[in-house]
Amino acid sequence: MNKITPNIFLLELPGPSSNAYVLVDGREAAIVDPGLCKQKELEAELGEAGVALESISRVFLTHAHADHSSNARFFPHAQLLCSQETLNCLLQKSPTAMFLEFCVPFFSFKGTALADGAAVHLGGFKLRCVNTPGHTQDAACFFEEETKTLFSGDSLFTQGSVPRVFYPEGGTELLQSWQKLEKLGAALVAPGHGPVSKHVARELEESRQGIAQGFL
Ligand SMILES: [Zn+2]
Repeated sequence: MNKITPNIFLLELPGPSSNAYVLVDGREAAIVDPGLCKQKELEAELGEAGVALESISRVFLTHAHADHSSNARFFPHAQLLCSQETLNCLLQKSPTAMFLEFCVPFFSFKGTALADGAAVHLGGFKLRCVNTPGHTQDAACFFEEETKTLFSGDSLFTQGSVPRVFYPEGGTELLQSWQKLEKLGAALVAPGHGPVSKHVARELEESRQGIAQGFL
């Protein structure tokens, strides 16, 4: 477990799990991308952050890829929040070959689709959904406005890592999504894989250079 702000924790889950982030404010707690691991591994990391699994009331998903979303099944009483496209994917209403490959096995959940720009309050936190297609068509980021933390999923990495794109128009759309992210004024990038960074402008610039060098 790593504390990235006084009330936001990065859970260090075993591979192939994505990064998972827990936000805590008083009795309110939420998780962004719960990852993919065993329940006891997840509970142990949550415990280090002083959070019981049952106290998580909201689960945010940046996209439906299994390494980010599978552990949502351990929070059956929480509200699951994601883009409409992610919800469709989880419900397998739009099972393209790509999504079939990566969709998690069906589990029952209380899902709510967030429109692009919609905000959710959690204690003193305010998380805004920003649709960012490119890595996948369903991808979204969540921008926490109080701490200016950008939970970027697989839409923006750090240290020059460039997201893989899973559909033909993805490269063009990813560049457009980065333009949206640039305007947010984020102070911290909390990516789906790799280290957290305070150098948001530099991460965006290095990612663009990575694309220019053909690492898509
Ligand atoms: Zn992904």
